[in-house]
Amino acid sequence: MNDAHPQPPVERGPSGLKARARRVLAHLDAVLPDVDSLYGDLHEHPELSGHEARTAAALAKRLEAAGYTVSRDFGGHGVVGLLRNGDGPTVLLRGDMDALPVEERTGLPYASHVRTKDGEPVMHACGHDVHTACLAGTAALLARSRDAWRGTVMVVGQPAEETLQGARAMMDAGLYARFGTPDAVLGQHTAPLPVGAFMHREGVAMMGSASVRIRLFGRGAHGAQPELSVDPVVLGASVVLRLQTIVSREVPPLEPAVVTVGHFQAGSRANVIPDEALLEVTVRTADDAVQARVLAAIERIVKGEAAAAGAPKPPQVEVMASTPVNRNDPALLRRVRAAHAEWFGRDALVPGVLATASEDFPRFAQGPEHPVPTAYWFVGVTPPHAWNAAPGTTPQQKVTHLPGPHSPLYAPDRAGSLRKGCESLTVAALSCLHGGEAPRDH
Ligand SMILES: [Zn+2]
Ligand SMILES: [Zn+2]
Repeated sequence: MNDAHPQPPVERGPSGLKARARRVLAHLDAVLPDVDSLYGDLHEHPELSGHEARTAAALAKRLEAAGYTVSRDFGGHGVVGLLRNGDGPTVLLRGDMDALPVEERTGLPYASHVRTKDGEPVMHACGHDVHTACLAGTAALLARSRDAWRGTVMVVGQPAEETLQGARAMMDAGLYARFGTPDAVLGQHTAPLPVGAFMHREGVAMMGSASVRIRLFGRGAHGAQPELSVDPVVLGASVVLRLQTIVSREVPPLEPAVVTVGHFQAGSRANVIPDEALLEVTVRTADDAVQARVLAAIERIVKGEAAAAGAPKPPQVEVMASTPVNRNDPALLRRVRAAHAEWFGRDALVPGVLATASEDFPRFAQGPEHPVPTAYWFVGVTPPHAWNAAPGTTPQQKVTHLPGPHSPLYAPDRAGSLRKGCESLTVAALSCLHGGEAPRDH
């Protein structure tokens, strides 16, 4: 990242932030009951990507009650709440709202029993209910303590993160043209670290991803007469093997990259050579240029293999969804991490590890003229008893034994996650906003 774009001004003074955070978070106990009831409601009533109408309405209602100017249905079910509070930077706080097609097995009293009309189970297995509830809580805290900060808070409830479509839809709808380009964008995600722990990583926090659908065309025939066919099963098998050479032969060995063929479908019975084969591939990289290179290699290999097989028509190679790497702005990330260290203590911070999972959060960095600084961090949500009982001594060892995001057993510590999630987002926001009036003596 370059330093050409404006950074939100730094609040100087060792205790400036802590004193302001104390004033704002003095309201936390008053706000938490509503955060908890929103969380319970969202957890019991999860909605799949693109269907977040109820969740969005619940968030919008709270933002409005807190005094925000609210826009609904922005880029799908997106919610935007603005609170202008004098001169100062604009800080975008982003929370994602969608759930996953997972059948909950936590056994919690507030577990989801929701199914779609098609019978698909739905669960907040990625903790987006925590994100949304903490977003509402932070919005309420900032609204109640407007004398402690100056600037503009832009609260964004984002739909369809799991399908990597929601952030793009909100940006395509003109988020920054309509509401202004923020000076900083902040987002947080739950993680199976112990509740009260936080993880930040300078540079790339999460890998970029792309999913690719490949349609291979052959010529069907009787299984006993392969000479009359162009067999798409054999063609597909060649493609699968050849794709393995991208990471091993084309990507530099020190560049992390993953190419996985997760879906390969062709034919219906043993004695019929089908006409077509369908492959779906996921690509993960820690560098957008590497992603572009891998995608070009996939297309080249698929076309080459189809030509080698004598396919009757060229294959279709389509990128269905993609997201860039989630790269933290170094200065902004350091600012947020320092603020968290000041508020929670240095011992609460664990060293950052590159996540191979992906996020569409980095879409918010794509400002109209220059990149917008973004910072994204992880909030531990594992209950203390579960953390202590997990085998291993290091966080990395323990985490492998604990249910994490997308697991049907993912069960954040309810009270701890909501309290710490509100605190971390609030403190991070304050670290970017200007200070308010000095507190009056009383
Ligand atoms: Zn997820
Ligand atoms: Zn998630």
